[in-house]
Amino acid sequence: MFTRRQLAVFIDGCYWHGCPEHGVRDGGANAGYWGPKIARNRERDLEHTALLESAGWRVLRFWEHEQPAAIAATVAAAVMGGAAGRSARDVRQPTGE
Ligand SMILES: [Zn+2]
Repeated sequence: MFTRRQLAVFIDGCYWHGCPEHGVRDGGANAGYWGPKIARNRERDLEHTALLESAGWRVLRFWEHEQPAAIAATVAAAVMGGAAGRSARDVRQPTGE
């Protein structure tokens, strides 16, 4: 797919990857059990991102709750060479038209 510019795109599940809006909160019903698992997932996410980036890949990560259109726009911009070196999560896309 993106052969010229190695680009990895991940869509992280809100629950399993600890989304700030929908993830497990401290004190939640199952926080004691799931909290460590989700923390481990997040750690692995960071490791994978770092590994890919050190291998010359550009990594874009999104939350599953993000608008597909906004994700597509960010990926398209990345493929076109925009937003270089920035994490997708740190890029605030203007919404609307
Ligand atoms: Zn979410």
